[in-house]
Amino acid sequence: MNIKTFINELQKLNISPTKEQLKQSETYAKMLLEYNKKFNLTAITKQEDIYLKHFYDSLTITKEIDLDQELKVLDIGTGAGFPGIVLKIFFPKLDLILLDSNNKKISFLNEVIKELGLKKIKCIHGRAEELPTNYREYFDIVTSRAVANLRVLTELSIPYLKVNGYFISLKGKADEELKEAESTLKVLNCEIEKIDKFILPDQVSERAIIKIRKEKETPDTYPRKYDKIKKQVLK
Ligand code: SAH
Repeated sequence: MNIKTFINELQKLNISPTKEQLKQSETYAKMLLEYNKKFNLTAITKQEDIYLKHFYDSLTITKEIDLDQELKVLDIGTGAGFPGIVLKIFFPKLDLILLDSNNKKISFLNEVIKELGLKKIKCIHGRAEELPTNYREYFDIVTSRAVANLRVLTELSIPYLKVNGYFISLKGKADEELKEAESTLKVLNCEIEKIDKFILPDQVSERAIIKIRKEKETPDTYPRKYDKIKKQVLK
């Protein structure tokens, strides 16, 4: 996707990018390409693919939630910053925490934040299941793209949401995972509000946005240790 098509497609998502946002995107894409040579941060290595499969893809979340607000957002397993950094560029009102267990990626993200001059954004090096307790029931929105299956992600994300907050999971295909996550969703008092399936403007890449609402507080026992989450399905 070239930059002109990117701008056109954003308009369809009701985003009219400013010059500064486009400049920030360009700088970010350059940094990704540069760092990727050294550290192999992402599998996507061409500028056009970055605009489609990272930038545009991350912004499809706006179809499901109005991000032009002062919301507290946590991006679990953000990697090289997806969707977190992209959301912050285009929706500067967000108050964002980026979380990843890989320190190499956190260092990269800190450089990106500095270079782009982003404010109200913080990186944490750590694991989702071990976040400090002051973040329990703290966020309006938790996002996650391509980190684990939906059942595992539900347990990693729901405890950190306020009641009535949303967990938004970005997936390729999701049907099997949805079935597998059913009992976990019940135990953790949350409900699938919407599943938005579509294809990217390349006309081939399938995507699903799963929007899950937290209905009640989460018992203190969750999330469990990662081993337990993996091995023992909540029922
Ligand atoms: N969201 C990014 C990265 C996906 S790769 C994207 O879509 O491009 C998955 C990332 O999740 C990796 O960077 C890995 O370090 C991180 N990760 C996996 N399990 C995690 C956990 N339990 N807590 C925090 N980060 C985790």
